[in-house]
This record gives sequence, structure tokens and C-alpha cells, in this order.
Amino acid sequence: MANTKRYVLDEKGLLDSVREESVVKLLQKVIRIESTNPPGNELDLAKMLADYFTRAGLGPELLEYEVKRANLITRIPGTGERPGLIFSAHMDTVPAGEVPWMFPPFSATLHEGRIYGRGAADMKGGLAAMTEAMVILARKGFSPKGDLIAAFTYDETHGLQGAKRLVEEGHLEGAGAVLISEPSTLEVFVAEKGALWLRCRAEGRTGHTSMPHLGQNAIFEMTRFLCRLEAELDISTHEHSLLGTATFTVGTIQGGVTINVIPDACEAEIDIRLVPGQDYQDVILKVRDLAGEGVSVELIDWKEPVESDSETDIVKLALAVVQEITGQPRSPKGVAYYTDGAILANRLQIPMVNIGPADTGMTHQPNENVEVERLVQAVKIFLLIANRYLT
Ligand SMILES: [Zn+2]
Repeated sequence: MANTKRYVLDEKGLLDSVREESVVKLLQKVIRIESTNPPGNELDLAKMLADYFTRAGLGPELLEYEVKRANLITRIPGTGERPGLIFSAHMDTVPAGEVPWMFPPFSATLHEGRIYGRGAADMKGGLAAMTEAMVILARKGFSPKGDLIAAFTYDETHGLQGAKRLVEEGHLEGAGAVLISEPSTLEVFVAEKGALWLRCRAEGRTGHTSMPHLGQNAIFEMTRFLCRLEAELDISTHEHSLLGTATFTVGTIQGGVTINVIPDACEAEIDIRLVPGQDYQDVILKVRDLAGEGVSVELIDWKEPVESDSETDIVKLALAVVQEITGQPRSPKGVAYYTDGAILANRLQIPMVNIGPADTGMTHQPNENVEVERLVQAVKIFLLIANRYLT
């Protein structure tokens, strides 16, 4: 019983250490270091965060790759009595886009309780909240039974290269669960869809557009194929309790050289989101069937879906902590987007929980922002989850 008492006191001390001003300032610094992918350039941001950790007495490991790309691994070592916990966040963002913003996208303007900027939601808000939680734990002399590992990656918005490298290089051995801070409006996500990306190419025969009967128009071929896909691709047979059914959409289409030449090639990239239990290779076969002779179909990438058992310790703990901090009831939910969890949870075979401060709908939008109140709540949630999972 004496232990329980001390436990509660410790947690109060931890929560009292959270300073809104500090996490706001950190997030503003993080947004102002542009890390748009492509090309990424996450190295400068990784260096700044490494400095922040070093000043708190931690020993971050900066793993530099290629041109200006980097992962950052920072560990609070445990005694080895319990499996470790990964704090997962990515450092890259999508481009700011062409639409004018209310505030310049890299200004990190604080306005009416929200911080605006590219990445504020996806996911520099989560990244800053996890960094702040690590630093508070380090300053408090946190000595856990399992390692707390902050795994900050590059290239999540595209190919998940950073996460793949961390797993391949063995930096995350011994972890028992991964906590991700992608936008969730502080809901608890335990499942995500898999993403299947395909490149389709129609070949035709060129000619002068005044005599279309002599050529074979690749754009027409492609559009007929895409309409067939939309009408006939039968992928919503599986209904997942948290994720619903699979979806299909076209992301890009390119073809033709000029108005008076019959196009001899047309390429389209399609995005299919599958739920656990669906075989992506079956889906590729279905797409190829609908493509027929005139269109070739090539795999660009497959990111596996993720699903954690709602009865695992980390999920139950996450639900309890989020309810405590937000004062609102929570149940496990699923999300259609993919995260580094597609690599970390599946390859390390550990459960994943995703709790992030930003609104799910903010991702990749102009005027992207995060609410300061939720940002602070996220720091508190991460502190309590780490403390309870690792001690
Ligand atoms: Zn993201």
C-alpha cells in the first residue's frame, strides 16, 4: 500500500511539471524548421531535437543517411525487467500546397489557442509532445524497468523508409509496444487500414488527331479502365468492426503531349485501402482482370494494415489514461490512414496504439493547426502511459 501511495504522488509531480509555455515554444521551433517531403531534409530538425534531449541529460543517437535525411533514437534505459515502449513520431511533412494560408505555413503562429503551420497536426504536434514528455521524465530521474525509446523517423509521409531502417538496423529490439502520436483528436486508435498503391499504364498508337481512327488513344483506354474499376472492383466484401470496408481512389493521371497528337501512353496511380484479413495479391489479380489486354498494372508499394488486440495491456492502459486526462469516455477505434505502425507493429510483432493531439481531419490541409489545450493533454497522457507501462 505504501507503494501505491508513492505512485500517486509521483504522478502528480509528473503532471505538475508540464509547462504549456515550454511545449508551445518547442512546437514552434519544430514547425519553423521546414522538413517538407520530398525532399525531406529532416536532418536539421533531428539535430535540433537531439540538442533538446542532450540538454536534459539524455544521449540521443543521430542516424544520418543519404542527403540530409536522418532518424533520431533517444533512450531512457530500463533495468530490463520489462519490455520497452516506443514513442513513435515522424519528422517529415507533406508540402504546404498552392492555396494561400491564413498565416505563412512555417511561421508557427499562435492564434486563439491554436498553433498554425505545416505539420502542426501531422505530426509535429505529436512529435513535440513526445519530446517534452521524454525530457520531463529524464529531468525527474525516471528509472524504468523497460527502455523508453523515442523513435523519430524520416520519410513517413511517403515510403516509411525511416521506420524500415530502424527495424532493419535493430534499434528497437526488446520493445513490447509502440505508441504513435499521429492526429487522433486524443481518441485511441488501435487499428489502421493497409495501403496498396498501383501504377497502371495504357499503351496506344499515336497519329494525327484529325484522323483518330488511324491511331489508338491511350487516354480513352485508361479512362474506360478506371470507370470499370470504379464500377466493378469488388473489394468491400470484408467488413471490419473498427475500420469498415476497403476503399479505392485514383491519385494521379498523366498522358498526352499536345492537343493535336493522339496520345500513345497514359499512366494512372491508384490507391486502395484494405482492412485486415484481405489479401492484397488477390486484389491485384482482380485489378489486372479488369485491366484486360490494353493496360498493365504494376505494384508501387504495399503497407500492411495494423490491428492490436483490444485486450492487451497497452490498449487498456491507454484507454484508462486518456479517460483520466480528458475526462471523456474512450473506446478503441480504427483509422483509414497508415502510419509508421505499419512497419513497427507488424515487423516487431508488437501492439500499436495511436493517440495524437491534433484533429484527424487536419491532416494535409491548408491552415493546419493543433489546439494548445490538447497538446498539453497529450504530454500528460504520454507521461502517464510511459510511467505505468514501464514501472
Ligand atoms: Zn503523419
